[in-house]
Amino acid sequence: MTSTKEPTFRESVGAMYRQAASLVDMSSGLRQQIEICNSTYTVRFGVRLRGEIHNFTGYRSVHSDHAEPQKGGLRFDHRVTADEVEALAALMTFKCALVEVPFGGSKGGLCINPREWDEHELELITRRFAFELIKRDLINPSQNVPAPDMGSGEREMAWIADQYTRMNTTDINARACVTGKPLNLGGIVGRTEATGRGVVNALQEFFRHPEDVKRANLSGSLEGKRIIVQGLGNVGYYAALFLSVENGANIIGVIERDGALYNPDGIDIIELKLHLNQHGGVKGSLLGQFVEDGSKLLEEDCDILIPAALEAVIDTANADRIKAPLIIEAANGPITALADKILREKGKIIIPDLLANAGGVTVSYFEWVKNLARIRFGRLQRRQEENRHRLLINELNRLFKEAELSITVSDSFVQKYLRGADELELVRSGLDDTMIKAYRSVRKVWYENNKVPDLRVASYLVAIERVAASYASKGL
Ligand code: NAD
Repeated sequence: MTSTKEPTFRESVGAMYRQAASLVDMSSGLRQQIEICNSTYTVRFGVRLRGEIHNFTGYRSVHSDHAEPQKGGLRFDHRVTADEVEALAALMTFKCALVEVPFGGSKGGLCINPREWDEHELELITRRFAFELIKRDLINPSQNVPAPDMGSGEREMAWIADQYTRMNTTDINARACVTGKPLNLGGIVGRTEATGRGVVNALQEFFRHPEDVKRANLSGSLEGKRIIVQGLGNVGYYAALFLSVENGANIIGVIERDGALYNPDGIDIIELKLHLNQHGGVKGSLLGQFVEDGSKLLEEDCDILIPAALEAVIDTANADRIKAPLIIEAANGPITALADKILREKGKIIIPDLLANAGGVTVSYFEWVKNLARIRFGRLQRRQEENRHRLLINELNRLFKEAELSITVSDSFVQKYLRGADELELVRSGLDDTMIKAYRSVRKVWYENNKVPDLRVASYLVAIERVAASYASKGL
């Protein structure tokens, strides 16, 4: 890109794609086919609320048909545009390919400020939006499967699943029409935390490679690292929680809608989330010092910066002032293509969105499989696993006794060893494995291809090669 005008989100994703695609040996026609968004459907509909008709606009984009169903969240936000939804759909294509989830990329959005409507009104609006998409097969277990995104969650997914079931009463796979559902409607344990946990799994894997850590001018492990997080919603909250509680990292700053909170000694994330839920912002919390202009904290000295709210929060206006040596994009598209170049030239290491936040779609995939199989993970093998473990422990103790050794296997070990894996453990294990494998495939390209300058280009390259191979085997 030669222009210095800040690109739109879609232009940014396009520029990042083209940089990586130029390194892949494929025809120019295929290169273009993979870049373009295959379709974007706009729906406009009215809902009678508060005594009058209110009109809403929504979108569903399908970026790539190379695999079906297509997968991608539904964003509920008053700023949603077709451009944004298309960019997000493209990211979904590359994200799914990178973590080897067999879906094409899609995304949807509803232009709405969810805080302006009460729960019953939101249900009516969501059901009507879902109706518009379902009747066009833009929600369908075998064609297009949405999930939560910014502004939507379990509750909205439950309404959508129910709406689909009402309209398709004989579809035995109806529950698989959407993921991120509550457990009692076919959801999976560990989906809500999945994107945040995946961010942590990616960081853990990064810190297992001392050469990568050194490239970021850091050392050691996650323990004690000073972290600033933007957005304490679904993704940001779980990432910050697991980083602090399970990995000993120090969350020194949290940026939210109404400002930011800063405390160099670390912020108790559970306490802050309670405050946020009660007051709608971080202002008034005694857990740190309040900073009115929250985005200034993006530029504060820290080891790891985690933008987990919106796109384009780091652009040409502030990229030069970012101090964090390591940035992990928990949100989609938080760094514009121009800012990306500035940061790279300054030696910053960026773990890109398509890798960093792929945990959500990974566990969504597990949920979809569970819905089609109609059985929870672990149900068949858990007790059998425990029985085999018990057999081993009993035999060990018998042998110790026979050899007249006055030793036995400790009770605490037996308790831990005997326990067969439940669904949560299996989901977390599958997620960790996926993130580790994806990170390793990306870093291999980063190290081995001297035309690849960073982890972003490497991630796109791995993903594009897989999408291209899939189109090629279909004869395109
Ligand atoms: P969310 O709505 O749960 O949380 C977003 C948070 O950001 C909220 O706490 C909100 O108050 C805050 N926020 C909004 N505007 C802000 C601003 N200007 N400054 C600071 N904070 C602001 O959304 P989410 O699901 O956590 O999604 C966040 C990002 O992660 C999005 O880019 C989304 O596309 C991406 N993502 C989400 C998932 C998922 O599973 N939810 C999966 C992959 C990627």
